[in-house]
Amino acid sequence: MCGIVGYLGHREAYPILIKGLQRLEYRGYDSAGIAIYDGETIKMSKTKGKVSDLIDCVKEEIDTKGTLGIGHTRWATHGVPNKVNSHPHYSNSGNLVIIHNGIIENYETLKKELTKRGYAFHSDTDTEVLVNLIEDIQIKEKIKLGKAVQVALNQVVGAYAIAVFDKNKPNEIVVAKLGSPLAIGIGDDEFFIASDASPFIEYTKNAIYLEDEEMAIIRRGKKIRVRKISDDSLIDPYVQELQLNLEQIEKGGYEHFMLKEIYEQPSAILDTFRGRLLSDQAIIKMSGIEDNMKRFLNAPRIIVVACGTSWHAGLVSEYIFEDLARIPVEVEYASEFRYRNPVINENDVVIAISQSGETADTLAAIKLAKSKGAFVFGVCNVVGSSIAREADAGAYTHAGPEIGVASTKAFTTQITVLTLIALRLARAKGTISSSDFRRHLLELELIPEKVKTALTTDDIVKTIANVYKNSRNFLYLGRGYNFPVALEGALKLKEISYIHAEGYPAAEMKHGPIALIDEHMPVVVIATNKGHYDKVVSNIQEIKSREGKIIAVVTKGDTAVKELADYVIEVPETIESLTPLLTTIPLQLLSYHIAVMLNKNVDQPRNLAKAVTVE
Ligand code: GLU
Repeated sequence: MCGIVGYLGHREAYPILIKGLQRLEYRGYDSAGIAIYDGETIKMSKTKGKVSDLIDCVKEEIDTKGTLGIGHTRWATHGVPNKVNSHPHYSNSGNLVIIHNGIIENYETLKKELTKRGYAFHSDTDTEVLVNLIEDIQIKEKIKLGKAVQVALNQVVGAYAIAVFDKNKPNEIVVAKLGSPLAIGIGDDEFFIASDASPFIEYTKNAIYLEDEEMAIIRRGKKIRVRKISDDSLIDPYVQELQLNLEQIEKGGYEHFMLKEIYEQPSAILDTFRGRLLSDQAIIKMSGIEDNMKRFLNAPRIIVVACGTSWHAGLVSEYIFEDLARIPVEVEYASEFRYRNPVINENDVVIAISQSGETADTLAAIKLAKSKGAFVFGVCNVVGSSIAREADAGAYTHAGPEIGVASTKAFTTQITVLTLIALRLARAKGTISSSDFRRHLLELELIPEKVKTALTTDDIVKTIANVYKNSRNFLYLGRGYNFPVALEGALKLKEISYIHAEGYPAAEMKHGPIALIDEHMPVVVIATNKGHYDKVVSNIQEIKSREGKIIAVVTKGDTAVKELADYVIEVPETIESLTPLLTTIPLQLLSYHIAVMLNKNVDQPRNLAKAVTVE
């Protein structure tokens, strides 16, 4: 996920691009760049760091004259954040310039082809492959830029919002979209391009939001031409009148970043397995695993180190690894592990999980593990972060920037990555049959849609939030795969609403927490129909007999729990190991709505920080 901007009109492009990039910085901020064209010279400046760093670079490097330009604030997916990998990217001839938000999944194959045809690559990005593919097609087929973009995109698998211009066409920018957002602002004889409308809201209220598989050719002084990428048909675009203010636009129309991120989970999970889960070939492709398969297969155990929500994702992975791949797993709080003189052997594999990749305790824990000769594998969201650099290998979650302090999409995408790893190892070890493996892949592919369905519980969750918002305590119970989900649900509530909440394995309730239950205690029970359903139903009965209030998360169509619970929240059915990806959703929503109703600062809860870089 990144922010893209573009301008074509009668004003100087530079100030519009820079201000636009600053507004889009919430989408990604590891590097930034711009290209401006004055009809004679293309002037490009890019740098690792924030847009403020770019401003300094521009001052030193280029003159900014020109009325056509594009800009990018990057959130790296392919290649570490550095100057060379920053966008925009030139094609080999230097004629084409591109910015891109998204992932080209088949870039390796395309790159090999293009290398054979004599193309050289300077960056590690998938984007540079795309711009050269467009150029190759343009030259080979002697066609115009728009047509070449279209032919190229028909060969591409993945997601993109792109803007590209050609030195030979000083009055034209071509844009296209699939999976990533792209808005075009239409002013008087001028056009604005951006990932959302925030960069151009003060210039025009008229905007076209391109739909997936659409492209547009934007020409100075001409009407925009929008067409389908797949079949060439022209489209009459719908020009919207924007009603939102700047802040609302940045949050995608949601009231808080946290809510936006909760709702982004279907696409975030899809981005996580994009290019890795190939169900038609029944394979999982993850270079970090393939390149180190021996280390994984020889490991007597996996030690997971993490903190907070990531630790909960680690706990879910314990069930998955042991269940599917039959590898013993220990899940450790990084802060305890690092100071405990733990027994670490050379053959151990240590998996470090951290959204930011900067968590101080986790970083220290992996340094310790490395010093004892263990193999360290990082699962981070932020590309090029300290943990990603320190680890021997790793897999990114590709969730896009998470701004809300309370982690949501980071959690579900971490579970997704860990599930892919466990499945891949299970296949390699032969602990899963090919039919079961295939069934898991197919089911995982359905998860984004099922998360969408789980999000439709929002209304009932809001009702429940309203009923229990003034409770002083909450209890969250789950068993098996959903025990960590109970912990995570309780943590979310504590973090943003400041209500005391405890997560517990449902059966453990009898060993203590049951004493807390009375008519004032709401108990959230995860009771999906897989796993130990009957046992959970008995636990619910025990709560009911003590007059506790029961909020149950159940599988759609459940009848038994419905009879007992005060409220039920239905999520779609899936295989047991994937249930956490669905049961988590209503719990995130519950904490969100309670916090909003209590007037708490949802995105920046007191005393908390997004990346805990101190121990
Ligand atoms: N895949 C591209 C890259 O790694 C674009 C990432 C983005 O959306 O910022 O550079």
